[in-house]
Amino acid sequence: MSFTSTVKKRLLRAQVTSIEQLLALNERELRSRSNIGPKTVSDINKALAKAGLSLAADPYEPYECARDAKVVRDADLRSYFLCDQCRDDYAERAFGERSPIWVSGERIDGYCGHCNELQVVRLSQWFLCGTCDRVVRSLGRGRASVKFVESSWAEISPPGLSLRETDPVELRPRGRRSDVDRVAQADFMADGVSGEAVLGVELKSGRRALPGGGVGEPMPRFQLDTTDCDDITAAAEALNVPVFLIHAQIIGRAHAPTERYVGVGLWFARPWDMLQHREAVKQRSLEARDAAYFKTKMFRPFAEFPAYVKDELGADLESMRQVGFPDLY
Ligand SMILES: [Zn+2]
Ligand SMILES: [Zn+2]
Repeated sequence: MSFTSTVKKRLLRAQVTSIEQLLALNERELRSRSNIGPKTVSDINKALAKAGLSLAADPYEPYECARDAKVVRDADLRSYFLCDQCRDDYAERAFGERSPIWVSGERIDGYCGHCNELQVVRLSQWFLCGTCDRVVRSLGRGRASVKFVESSWAEISPPGLSLRETDPVELRPRGRRSDVDRVAQADFMADGVSGEAVLGVELKSGRRALPGGGVGEPMPRFQLDTTDCDDITAAAEALNVPVFLIHAQIIGRAHAPTERYVGVGLWFARPWDMLQHREAVKQRSLEARDAAYFKTKMFRPFAEFPAYVKDELGADLESMRQVGFPDLY
C-alpha cells in the first residue's frame, strides 16, 4: 500500500495500525477520528482504489435524491400512487431514468397523484429529499387547478377570447424548471378572434375560498410573494398585454387510499384593482421572502369575467397602451 508519509503518520496517530483495521472502517467512521480530514480521506481512497481496495460501506450513508441526482441529507423513501403512464414519465423525464425503488404488486382503482384521473394506480417509491417531495405532491393539485380553469373558461366562454396553456404543469428535473418560466411568461394566454394575444392569466391555487363562492370560510386576506407580483409585471411588459391573477380553490376529497382534487371556486383580479387593495408588504413568517397582503375585495367571482370582458376590458387595454401596466403592490 503506497500511502504518503503524512497519511501514514495521521493513521498511526488515529490509532489505525493495520490495513485490515483500516478496511473495516467506513468513511464516516474514519472522518470521526482526530487528525483525519477530507483531504486525508481522499488520499486514502485514492491509494486504496489503486490497490483495488475500498473502505467499508456505510450502513447509514445518506440516500441520493432521484430528482436532484445527488446525495441529499434528508432524502428518504417517499411513496406516491401513480398510474403506469405517470410513473414512467417520472422515471424517464424527472428522475434521470431512475426506476422506482419499489412498486406495489397491488393494483388499485384510485386517483393518480399526478394526472388526477381515476385509473389503475400502484404505490411507487423513490428516494427524494423534502423539497422535491413537496414539489411532487403539489403537482396533482396543480394539474387539477389547470383543468378546472380550462373547464370553467369553456363553460362561461368570455366573448371573443380563447384560452391556451403556455406553461404545462409537469415534473422536471431540479434546476431545469426555470429556463421556460423565468423568461417572462404567464400560465395562460387568452387570444382574440384573429389569434392575437389579448391578455395573460397567472393562476394561483390554494385550499381556501375567497368571498362570494367556494367552500368553507373565505380567507381573511390574500397573500402573494412580491417575487410573484414582479413576475406578473415582467410577463405583462414582455408580452405587452395585461396579466390577470386568478385564484382557484382546490380541495382534496378522499378516494381511499388515494385523493381526488376538485376545483370548487374561481375568482379573478383586475391588475388595476390590486394596488388599491394592498394592505401591507412584509416578510413571510419563518421565511426570508417578502409577501404582499391584499384585501380579498380585489377579487371578483370568475362568473363575472364575461361581463368584465364585454364592459370594461376595452378601456383597460387602452389604459395599458397609454400608460403601461399598473404597479401591483
Ligand atoms: Zn397519472
Ligand atoms: Zn431533491
